[in-house]
Amino acid sequence: MQILAEFIKKIAEAKKVCVLTGAGISAESGVPTFRGSGESAVWKGMPVEEISSARMVTENLDEVWEWFDYRREVLKDCQPNHAHRALMLWESRLRENFLLVTQNVDGLHSQAGSRNILELHGNIQRLKCTKGCRLKYEMLPTEIPHSPDICDLCDAPLRPDVVLFGEMLPEGYFEYAVEFTRDCDLFLSIGTSAFVYPAAGLAEVAKRNGAFCVEINPEETPLSDIYDESLRGKAGEILPKLLGIETGHFH
Ligand code: NAD
Ligand code: ZN
Repeated sequence: MQILAEFIKKIAEAKKVCVLTGAGISAESGVPTFRGSGESAVWKGMPVEEISSARMVTENLDEVWEWFDYRREVLKDCQPNHAHRALMLWESRLRENFLLVTQNVDGLHSQAGSRNILELHGNIQRLKCTKGCRLKYEMLPTEIPHSPDICDLCDAPLRPDVVLFGEMLPEGYFEYAVEFTRDCDLFLSIGTSAFVYPAAGLAEVAKRNGAFCVEINPEETPLSDIYDESLRGKAGEILPKLLGIETGHFH
């Protein structure tokens, strides 16, 4: 895909940038997405909205763990791709004027070296207490299945530290993203189906406040119309071109 020089220049000149990423940015690393190509993921006959839900944690925590251990197993051999690395380099140019807001729970952005990351939906390698106290626990990526554990403070079972369907985002996270996005001159959304709110609403905030809004996704999304530019293709191919980065340096 050819990207216009004028467009590349516009990206290079951006002074304050917010990037929102979704499962699509990790697809080229081998991490399955939930949606795309008109299909929705299913685990043991259950749609992800059901197995990954707050209700399932109360009703069948073992099954939730089985699903998350399966996802961790898939993730074990996955590495960050060109798109994750390109974002890391972009951040190193703009520093505190660059915020990476991710809906992904796979940790691949931090593995690629990004620092200023807001993990809106948590991280699949962390656990938290089902009683909702503030203690968090880390798991080794290789610890599959996870060792069943209870909270040191409350004696309650632990669950994945991931925001499930029907749950609120961690307090203050989205508010911070909105605040940052308000005075951005560029907003870039990569590999998100734009179905999951409030994350999807960030593009609307950017648009209302006059940022130039760009989407990278091989498919059209419900929000495609609000973007000034939609680049149809794979993140790992488009992003380095857009930023003028030679991917040969990545190896
Ligand atoms: P999604 O699965 O709903 O949508 C993925 C999107 O990525 C689709 O629009 C698809 O067209 C696009 N896509 C596919 N391949 C791409 C590529 N190579 N480059 C660019 N785009 C590509 O994902 P979502 O919008 O992030 O929402 C799903 C929810 O599921 C999120 O809340 C997230 O927490 C969770 N999830 C996370 C992971 C992960 O951590 N890697 C994986 C699956 C789901
Ligand atoms: Zn606890």
